[in-house]
Amino acid sequence: MKIFNYQDLIKTYIVNKRLAKREKDPVQSLNYENKANSIRYVLELNSPTLFASKNHKAIMESDREYLQDFDEYAPFVRMFADIDPIEVKYSKFPINSPLSRLMLHTRGFYQKLKTKYYKNIYSVMGDKDSILKVTRVKKSKYGGIAIPLADNKSFYINVDVNGTMEDFISFVHEFSHANSILINPDHASYEKSCLFEADALFMEMIDLDFLKGPYDNESVYHKADMFDDYIYSAWIACAKMKLLTDLSDDQLNDRRFLEAYLKSKGYSGKEINDILYTEIENYYNYIYAYMVAIELYFRYLADKNQALVLLEKIINLKCDEPGQYIEEIDKLGIVVGKHINEYRDLISKECSYGQKL
Ligand SMILES: [Zn+2]
Repeated sequence: MKIFNYQDLIKTYIVNKRLAKREKDPVQSLNYENKANSIRYVLELNSPTLFASKNHKAIMESDREYLQDFDEYAPFVRMFADIDPIEVKYSKFPINSPLSRLMLHTRGFYQKLKTKYYKNIYSVMGDKDSILKVTRVKKSKYGGIAIPLADNKSFYINVDVNGTMEDFISFVHEFSHANSILINPDHASYEKSCLFEADALFMEMIDLDFLKGPYDNESVYHKADMFDDYIYSAWIACAKMKLLTDLSDDQLNDRRFLEAYLKSKGYSGKEINDILYTEIENYYNYIYAYMVAIELYFRYLADKNQALVLLEKIINLKCDEPGQYIEEIDKLGIVVGKHINEYRDLISKECSYGQKL
């Protein structure tokens, strides 16, 4: 694994483009071409012009299309929006772990899990073609991305770190994606299901329990924070859905009207901003997956191995339609939403223990 370097990547792109042209063997030539293309994608992803924000009209339009394809997931989003938040206020403790420590933590975490299918993590870490990019971010919201490079074996992994305990979890999260894509590239398809995040979010939950040792309260409060974050996401998604059904096209195209309308309904500035300028896809992808992760987590508490076997089955699912994934999850005996309240109670109890300390 090498650290992201823009100039190096440009060179590798040019070399592979040339090799693809010169190579006589068509299979080999395609391999070079694939590698060049995936590197170009990573380069484009890192060029700031690509992050130019869409206007609200384009967002509403893509939201409407998305909701048509993923309408089977709507009841789950609504179910989650109805839960009461835990509302624990805390300020994050600065930890500032060096990269070496974050990598060591990730490796150690997957070693502790002791499942054979997570050995993929070590191959990604040891792969000379895999690229790691760590971005230091000021805001406390973490994120990252894991993209397979040529032939789904090497990865571009970008992790945003903010110098708190979350950095450990972000690494575990992104490497979980890499592992799942290696097992089944279909699992990564945002166009097919809302399951893509399930394994990564489940790994976060287990990692937070592991981190309870060294970072006691931080870990518990972070769990609560995450839970509330998903309720907020579900809530924004529901507000968007309502807007799209209640208003006419003319009204939806009129930004001033929308802002005034949402204000009159009691939404705050941040909420209005999130409703108008973020895509519903980003909420949907996380909420259902998080609910599946909660169910897996309860299995894990009862029987660690059974939960990991179930997870492997989820990662291996291959369906053609978004709704079919819901049926398959059902067939695996997972009742999505069954343990949400129990999970909420568990976290609030842990938080109240923490506050007494
Ligand atoms: Zn993710």
